[in-house]
Amino acid sequence: MTARFDQGPWAAAGVQTVQPGVHRVPLPLPHDGLHAVNVYLLENLAEDNGIVMIDGGWAIPEARKALEEALVAIGRDLGDISHILVTHIHRDHYTNAVELRRLLGSRVYLGAGERPGLEMLERLRSDEPAGSLETLRRAGAAELADRITMMDHGGYDPSVWEAPDQWLGAETLRFGDHELRVVPTPGHTKGHVVYLDEQRGLLFAGDHVLPHITPSIGFELTEAGGRPLADYLDSLRLMTRYADTRLLPAHGPVTDSAHTRVAELLTHHDDRLAKSLTALGEETLDAHAVARELGWTRREVPFGDLNAFNQMLAVNETAAHLDVLVLRGRATVAFVGGVNQYTRVR
Ligand SMILES: [Zn+2]
Repeated sequence: MTARFDQGPWAAAGVQTVQPGVHRVPLPLPHDGLHAVNVYLLENLAEDNGIVMIDGGWAIPEARKALEEALVAIGRDLGDISHILVTHIHRDHYTNAVELRRLLGSRVYLGAGERPGLEMLERLRSDEPAGSLETLRRAGAAELADRITMMDHGGYDPSVWEAPDQWLGAETLRFGDHELRVVPTPGHTKGHVVYLDEQRGLLFAGDHVLPHITPSIGFELTEAGGRPLADYLDSLRLMTRYADTRLLPAHGPVTDSAHTRVAELLTHHDDRLAKSLTALGEETLDAHAVARELGWTRREVPFGDLNAFNQMLAVNETAAHLDVLVLRGRATVAFVGGVNQYTRVR
């Protein structure tokens, strides 16, 4: 799950030039959980000397101001942003891209796997995380789901959820003579993509590979179901099929090796799978019950000490781990009275 403690100098306002023409700019978020989201500004790629931006940030005035200041620091301005390549539909990545397009006419790109979710959002017209709440109920945590339903979700603003100009699959984008490979990496969301700059050895990883925290899995505003963790583990292994690169994440500092972090994340999930199986023991339990047996975040915080939102992430991540154990033949599941009940295979 997403640890909410990733404070560090990386989130401080300013510009970090990763290499000539590649700049990391942390933009503020409205809640204090993750502190900031990195956007990346790539110069000298697009025609007309435009800037290609990776991820948009969250559409709040403070983020616009930080972005404007960063552009001034590199001798550019907002009007130079010609293309915005977004990694996934979560609002800290997507909403400001839509807003900048309205202001500047920039072209916005998003993974095609987000399309059904975005279209469903337009029909539901709600920011309540319906998909995650449905997963929560199936995990035996209906009371927690009720509490989260009653919380304020900030109100639905249709203007930040407009469709992108271009839906992306596995393909290569060309800007002048420079190429960016689009790699779909479902897991964190269904339509998450990363952008791989093989010429320069850079991976713009969004929330797929984060250096300090374990990305949450399958936090969806709309549809529940699918196999988010199995997809995520496949998407992690997929990264090792490309040459290793520097890691340019959406949250956290730039690090030298994407492969090193991918290996750590795979080990982390192996460990969580083993612990989930142990917690299941000889009983038949739902994911909510198993989650209560486990420690959470790097600090192994007891489940009861998490706030409601993080309890939701914890229960849903436990359900995702149990579902992978079922896929691997280590447990069985029965859907009883609207709740998935898991039993270890002996
Ligand atoms: Zn994010």
